Amino acid sequence: MRNPIEGKNVVIIGAGAGGLSAGILLSLFDYRVTLVEKNSVAGGLMRSYQRSGIDCPVGVHYVGALGPDEPLGRMFRVLGLTVDDLFYRIGGDGVIDRYLFDDFVFDLPVNLDAYEDNLRSACPTDARALDILMKNLRDIAAGMLKPSFFLNTGDPFQNMESFRPMGELLDELHASDRLRAILAVPCQLIGVELNDCPVIFHSMVLAGYLFSSWRLKDGGSRMADVFTKRFTDLGGELLTGCPVRKIQVAGRKVTGVLLADGRTLPADGVVAAIHPKALLELLDEDVLRASVRERILTLAETEGVIAVQAGVDARAHAAMDHNLYRLYCDAHGVIKDGIFCQIRPGGGAAGANLLSIISRSLYRDWLPWENTRTGCRGDAYREKKQAIASELLEKASGIFGPFKDLRLLDVFTPLTLRDYVNCPEGSCYGVLRSSRQLLKVASLNNLPLAGLCLAGQNALAPGVLGAVLGSFAAARQIAGEKRFLAEVVRQL
Ligand SMILES: Cc1cc2nc3c(=O)[nH]c(=O)nc-3n(C[C@H](O)[C@H](O)[C@H](O)COP(=O)(O)OP(=O)(O)OC[C@H]3O[C@@H](n4cnc5c(N)ncnc54)[C@H](O)[C@@H]3O)c2cc1C
Repeated sequence: MRNPIEGKNVVIIGAGAGGLSAGILLSLFDYRVTLVEKNSVAGGLMRSYQRSGIDCPVGVHYVGALGPDEPLGRMFRVLGLTVDDLFYRIGGDGVIDRYLFDDFVFDLPVNLDAYEDNLRSACPTDARALDILMKNLRDIAAGMLKPSFFLNTGDPFQNMESFRPMGELLDELHASDRLRAILAVPCQLIGVELNDCPVIFHSMVLAGYLFSSWRLKDGGSRMADVFTKRFTDLGGELLTGCPVRKIQVAGRKVTGVLLADGRTLPADGVVAAIHPKALLELLDEDVLRASVRERILTLAETEGVIAVQAGVDARAHAAMDHNLYRLYCDAHGVIKDGIFCQIRPGGGAAGANLLSIISRSLYRDWLPWENTRTGCRGDAYREKKQAIASELLEKASGIFGPFKDLRLLDVFTPLTLRDYVNCPEGSCYGVLRSSRQLLKVASLNNLPLAGLCLAGQNALAPGVLGAVLGSFAAARQIAGEKRFLAEVVRQL
């Protein structure tokens, strides 16, 4: 958005972590905010769901940088959300993630110095490469602690070197296959392959978790409820079960939205906390130049996932304070396949813990059901899900041993996520922020229509940290640089 909006009425489309954060921040700026959500409840990917009394996560398994002086912790403070009310810190046993490869184990520990020690002892031939990689990581981590981080300015964010692909840098440094394999794991948290992952995003996601790592105390539904309550307590209006059908435009400026039920909501500004391709569907074809439409329509997506949720006997399978990745590499150390696992307390269900397994799943593998909706996909789809779930549980039992009293609770696929939050191809982390399409995605930060901007994970970066950061950027566009600096950055 080129200029701040003139009036006070803002409509936000989409009540995920991004839309709710934008709603809270704009309410704090005294805008009259209406948040419109297509689902019957707010929360998007952050909301969890119940199966047999067990709370199953969707899009919040662990979150980084929530400490009081860390980027997400600071943004929570500005939003008026209490971190300790929702999250507890993990890594009490010194480990956040354990990476299990065929021939070695690597622990992602609880801070940068310990990470450097672990890398140096796992990859003794990479001493020179690690001098450079650790300097990059420390510089970017330091940048994340400065106010300029919230303005996406200053070094290293304006240094072109930070945007080169990690794979190219590793080639230049003659990195070993083992080092490449270890460094490829954080890429999975933003859905970009190591070879094409900009150094800055790699470092941001890694530094975020190395600052501090947290899990939800009571699940994603409570997180969604706490965000929602904060928004409505500030006077924001939430309309659920209301898909937006059209963004109305007059004189090259947004004027409001039309809801699926026929109501219109006039607005001086519209924040789209949804996928940019979903946004495009809400605009008449002549509103954006053909070249801009084409740029958005041809954006590559992050890959989808399949997730298995199962109850297991809590006495035989204790909850673990860290996450496990089992990774399968080719002869050159390139990760070809893998699973992410968590075992967490099952909450209400007596004697059961929750085992969650997530693995990559390509949208094209689900094409036979592309034109079906969740709940109406038939037996063949159910059988395919069941077969993949069995394979993934088999892989997990290779780590944990045979499961006792295993109960399959649910399996969700890229199609489930597509239908749930309207992300094309079930993309987990929205548009692909690869070095190759960086300029294309950067153009989304400044949509050429007065009064319209993106928020959430598609605005700047994925994950809870990225989605909230994207909403701070949206509030800055709506309220203007001067107010943002005076009222937000001052507090950060
Ligand atoms: C399986 C999985 C695991 C993940 N794990 C983690 C993790 O452990 N840690 C982490 O930090 N991140 C994780 N993420 C990423 C994180 O969940 C997302 O980055 C973040 O929740 C995105 O928030 P958002 O508000 O941008 O989008 P969403 O949560 O997708 O919200 C968009 C909202 O817009 C609504 N909407 C769409 N179209 C319309 C319309 N036309 N009208 C009205 N409403 C509409 C949708 O229903 C949805 O509620 C994970 C994601 C996935 C998929």
